[in-house]
Amino acid sequence: MIDYHTHTPLCKHAEGTPEEFIAAALAAGLNEIGVSDHAPWPSGYDSAFRMTAEEFREYHGIVASMAKSTSDLKVRYSLEIDWVPREMDEVWASVADEPFDYLIGSVHYTDDLPFDNPDHQTVWMTAERSSEVWIRYYELLLGFTGGGGFEIIAHFDLPKKFGNRPPETDEIDRLTTEILTAAADNHIVMELNTAGLRKPVAEIYPSPDILRKAKKIGVPITFGSDAHSPVEVAANFAEAVALAKECGYDSYTTFETRVRKTERF
Ligand SMILES: [Zn+2]
Ligand SMILES: [Zn+2]
Repeated sequence: MIDYHTHTPLCKHAEGTPEEFIAAALAAGLNEIGVSDHAPWPSGYDSAFRMTAEEFREYHGIVASMAKSTSDLKVRYSLEIDWVPREMDEVWASVADEPFDYLIGSVHYTDDLPFDNPDHQTVWMTAERSSEVWIRYYELLLGFTGGGGFEIIAHFDLPKKFGNRPPETDEIDRLTTEILTAAADNHIVMELNTAGLRKPVAEIYPSPDILRKAKKIGVPITFGSDAHSPVEVAANFAEAVALAKECGYDSYTTFETRVRKTERF
């Protein structure tokens, strides 16, 4: 099994040494762990939650030394990159020519609102505002599944984190269909992210309904814990695999130097 979504303390909200992450991955019986910390942003965008541009060299060194430290586990080199329209050029320029195995794209802001930050949840929990946030969130997700550059979509329905479910409207249904269709067309994979089980919503990202739809449309999957500490590595993966099987999946995708392979459960 693989865990393709983990963080390091460089992002300022994770803990644990590289050795502890490796030990946790081995104890969980993984054969691959992907390190996918939040990408640096040269102009200082959202700087409280990410490494600095100067720390990026150090990050590469940490992942490389993790890879060298064990032959029992493949260590994959990645980043979780926020999709922020019109600001992507400097990010791509700052990480160009890096030997990534894959890149994860994510959305944590609907324009200026950090909707998944607990300090801001009350401001968008009214029905009207919530609907706007979900629609804008999915429009942004559609922006990068249509735009290329990433191998994996992170935590597909993240705005549900505090239990705020998407409205059941035709517009939301249409948007999720469009995103998944774009992902299938552009060979972008969706992760099953178990961090949702550790949040108030207590549900894997994505929901079973979205996962069934993804299967129907032909979107492959990976697995990620979104671990911000070693104890979270591969957390609840038995549940994630059970969910994938229930929704019709019998395989998942792995990446090495951005080349994909399909593995059966
Ligand atoms: Zn994220
Ligand atoms: Zn993450």
